[in-house]
Amino acid sequence: MPPTRSAPDAHPLQFDGILVDLFGTLIPMGHQEARLRNLEEMGRILDLNPATFTTQWLDCGYDRFRGRLGSLERTVERLALAQGVRPNSTAIHRALEVRLGLTRGLLARTGPSLPALDALRAAGLRLGLVSDTSEETVRLWPATPLSSRFDVAVFSWVEGTCKPDPRMYRKALEGLGLPPAKCAYVGDGGSRELSGAEAVGLSAFMYRYPVEEEGALSRLDEDTGWTGTKLTDLRELLRFAPSPPDGS
Ligand SMILES: [Mg+2]
Repeated sequence: MPPTRSAPDAHPLQFDGILVDLFGTLIPMGHQEARLRNLEEMGRILDLNPATFTTQWLDCGYDRFRGRLGSLERTVERLALAQGVRPNSTAIHRALEVRLGLTRGLLARTGPSLPALDALRAAGLRLGLVSDTSEETVRLWPATPLSSRFDVAVFSWVEGTCKPDPRMYRKALEGLGLPPAKCAYVGDGGSRELSGAEAVGLSAFMYRYPVEEEGALSRLDEDTGWTGTKLTDLRELLRFAPSPPDGS
């Protein structure tokens, strides 16, 4: 049975756009052990202590997300120098191919996301991505099947700040040319993104990538106190679209 609008309602909720999170929402968070093994392999390629490199990389997560360590190449070089090693460009390139391979694999695991995004677009909704991420995603994004579904993509690495900073949401709203009252925000709840979205006037919904494996990476800075509407399918947002499906 299709979703129904509550009626009578003088001001039914209706959106012209949706801002969407990436990790844990459109793609999996990824397996924690696989991520650790990937970092250790990078450390070995760079002739570093792999365990120390892994700790260094994880400890500077929010600095990497905000672009504070520069490019991926510069980030790897900085961490190596902290271990007293100056890697050559070939080793850096090889290590980054390992890292980019991991991210590329996650970005390919779109599961149910592509048909859902297509349905939202077909109903007249404009889509904006708002992602806290380091440079890997920024580099790989244009070649993903996700990118063509979005009218705008806002990345923390580019903006120099992370959610829930209002600037992240406002940049995406500007890109869509829409006010917050005409947009929904949907995400898995990391980075306190849902309460952050509501603070700028967006209607927030929680949705989590549905086929996450056991042992997945934990969400950073989770929106634990948030008690809004949880979706089990992104297409539940169709009820708020300019052209809602028949029967709504
Ligand atoms: Mg997320």
